[in-house]
Amino acid sequence: MDASAVTELKGALEAERERLVAEIEEYEREGQETLSDVSGENNYRDHMADQGSATFARELDMTLEGQARESLAQIDRALTRIDEGTYGTCARCGAAIPRERLEAVPEAELCVSCKEREESV
Ligand SMILES: [Zn+2]
Repeated sequence: MDASAVTELKGALEAERERLVAEIEEYEREGQETLSDVSGENNYRDHMADQGSATFARELDMTLEGQARESLAQIDRALTRIDEGTYGTCARCGAAIPRERLEAVPEAELCVSCKEREESV
């Protein structure tokens, strides 16, 4: 893959990375607020109702936060591979990952056939 394509994809990865870092920070901040709300000095009945919805919201946030962290880790690995010069090749079989695939999924680590094999296991 030519250097300008890598530079372009690196830009996309860095932009996505920034977005995810901001998103995770937001979840962390919300999580702290939720926890302090739940432990607040509300009266008992309100407290129970709040706790239920707050717990649900927190669980949803934690799921989304987990997904964001996983995406962030993938992007970090992709950026590392760019630095190492191994970006754009399949981490499993070493085949070149098609540029169209990288444009759709810049953090892709596997070629399509390895990815499909992994998902079918
Ligand atoms: Zn492969």
